[in-house]
Amino acid sequence: MSKPDFKVVFWGVRGSIPVPGTHTIRYGGNTSCVQIQIGPRLLIMDAGTGIHRLGQELLKGSQPITGDIFISHTHWDHIQGFPFFSPAFIKGNRFNLYGQSKVNLNFGDLMRGQMMYEHFPVSLEQMGATITMNELVSDLTLDLGDGIKITTQESNHPGGCLCYRVDHGGRSCCYMTDMEHSPQTDQAMTEFAANADLLIYDANFTDDEYYGHGDLPSRIGWGHSTWQAGIKLLHAAKAKQLILFHHSNFHNDDDMDQIEKNARNLYANLAAAREGMVITL
Ligand SMILES: [Zn+2]
Ligand SMILES: [Zn+2]
Repeated sequence: MSKPDFKVVFWGVRGSIPVPGTHTIRYGGNTSCVQIQIGPRLLIMDAGTGIHRLGQELLKGSQPITGDIFISHTHWDHIQGFPFFSPAFIKGNRFNLYGQSKVNLNFGDLMRGQMMYEHFPVSLEQMGATITMNELVSDLTLDLGDGIKITTQESNHPGGCLCYRVDHGGRSCCYMTDMEHSPQTDQAMTEFAANADLLIYDANFTDDEYYGHGDLPSRIGWGHSTWQAGIKLLHAAKAKQLILFHHSNFHNDDDMDQIEKNARNLYANLAAAREGMVITL
């Protein structure tokens, strides 16, 4: 039997805040959202503003829509698109949301929080689709059925964040956003990413920006990584392809071209994520 397609589609590639405009037209200005489509199974990594257009595209396909949405953490740039995800407003659609509690709030309450009446006119319960909340912790492996396996790994990020690994039919993709690397390549992260076909990696900063070379202030402790650390992790984990992700809101298209070029000089099988980019594993 032939394997179903394992397709990764980028809908939002930015960190922190959407930055649409003529300066970001080629890489895109929406915040984090990646679709992983394995045959008929819809998986969505994060619900930043990129999920809005994904929702519009899904409405053109077959209905009802069922999907699993994995939230790395509930910082705004990873959840802010959810109240504008049109398929979640349609009765008969079904979405399983997965994420982690924070401080004294469980994951469901964190997602409901941004849709409180003080912030948004419609509550999560009023959206229409059947939405279930699933609490996750680090170092879990979930069986999603149809041979799809999800593994979680806590990253080093203020307030906590989960990285997700998706395995299916001998193919694998790691979604590793909002993570700060350690000076020595992290052993747990290396094992998590071992032999992965694709790493989607937090490359918010360059090494110069991160370490504060020249006149730049240091960004150590801000919870983000660099493309240089991504390449190191890829080699340590013997992973194959690297996609730079969670681009800084300060990097315009020309900056991104330069970053991608510099990174490719060190490792060829690499690209900076662009909105609309599709990778088939
Ligand atoms: Zn972020
Ligand atoms: Zn964050």
